[in-house]
Amino acid sequence: MTGPTHARVEKKRGVDVRVYDIILKKRRGYELSKDEIDFLITGFTSGDIPDYQMSAWLMAVFFQGMSVEETCNLTMAMVHSGESVDLSHIRDVKVDKHSTGGVGDKTTLVLAPLVAACGVPVAKMSGRGLGHTGGTLDKLESIPGFCVDLPKDEFIKAVNTIGIAVVGQTASIAPADKKLYALRDVTATVDSIPLIAGSICSKKLACGADAIVFDVKTGKGAFMKSEDDALCLAELMVDIVRGAGKRGAAVVSDMNQPLGYAVGNSLEVMEAIDTLRGEGPEDLRELCLSLGSLMLVLGGKAKNTEEARISLVNALKTGAALSKFADLISNQGGDVRVIDAADAVLPSARCLEAVPSVQSGYISEIDAEKIGVASMILGAGRRTKDDTIDPAAGIIVLKKLGDKVDEGEPLVMLHTNNWDTLEPAAELVMSSYKVSQDKPVVPQLIKQVIED
Ligand code: URA
Repeated sequence: MTGPTHARVEKKRGVDVRVYDIILKKRRGYELSKDEIDFLITGFTSGDIPDYQMSAWLMAVFFQGMSVEETCNLTMAMVHSGESVDLSHIRDVKVDKHSTGGVGDKTTLVLAPLVAACGVPVAKMSGRGLGHTGGTLDKLESIPGFCVDLPKDEFIKAVNTIGIAVVGQTASIAPADKKLYALRDVTATVDSIPLIAGSICSKKLACGADAIVFDVKTGKGAFMKSEDDALCLAELMVDIVRGAGKRGAAVVSDMNQPLGYAVGNSLEVMEAIDTLRGEGPEDLRELCLSLGSLMLVLGGKAKNTEEARISLVNALKTGAALSKFADLISNQGGDVRVIDAADAVLPSARCLEAVPSVQSGYISEIDAEKIGVASMILGAGRRTKDDTIDPAAGIIVLKKLGDKVDEGEPLVMLHTNNWDTLEPAAELVMSSYKVSQDKPVVPQLIKQVIED
């Protein structure tokens, strides 16, 4: 058969290779060649290969998997589907970080100025939040005036002068991934490790860094519910960036409860400032020190992670990291008074309500995903990508895993400007907490580290 449903690959040894054959080959569990993968991604991006054939191929990949080599080829084909950012005018080794997304994950707000204060240039392109997880851009935009749309020359200039800039990722980055992700989303093929790894790495590699550190979350509030899957994804992403000639490292970290106490945009900015001042929650600080140590080593600013940790702790102690955050804010038009008067500068919610515990005991479970969804209901997040968000909305977690609680004592404080959201959010929070009579074992925060 010929025609659009069987678009041709190329003449190979005089034989037409068709999309049909590529789907069949993958369905039968064989490895695809670079040419075959390039053909699929180029044809799908241009619209020559229809969604129904690509959907069939995605399902074949879902069941048969992909080798590391195939996944590297898929990643590079998606990188080449769009623009790659040229960061060569930035002096020094550029190290990026990617988190697979969690609840209360304000790590970038702390980590970016922290490593920049230790000499690693931060040229960061970030995204917005969707569903139960937040996005760095939304958090930064809760600071009045903060602009995430710098022209390219200003972006480069900022990194060369103050050592840090954070902007939004443009639509020209890996357009194949955007189109493919939309299809995966409606064909039940999102949760395939090679497809996830290719999707994340294609965007990160197109953003031009020399090295990438991945924070792969695992647990109830994470994309990867099992630690084995999270480790597998982390190892694969490190392999992909190395295959692309860059350096990579990864941490697998716990997301069985929100990170820190604050969930929601301006609440998270306040907590990040506290952490940069050396006063934040212990889990957030520890994760930033672990990821930051890997970044300093990859960036050539420390010989090993022990030496890197000393520099990072010092940058927190001396105020250099907080001062770098102030530089970032003022350079991108934000109200820098937020550093010393966050309460007065950041948007705050009119309606606050505590959610009390119905029994006494120890907190044995918190479904972080439900906390993220409750925060979204309060207005902090988006159900669909076109929703608007309320920067003041969110949740302050008052009880974390292993904490003792008395009946009637608040578990969390809800923040919103919409009274109608309080009841459904409170119900969800109640159902996310479990209380036991015995003190539970609290999961380890850093589960695995993959060093360079
Ligand atoms: N995040 C991504 O960017 N891509 C995926 O496929 C999953 C999570």
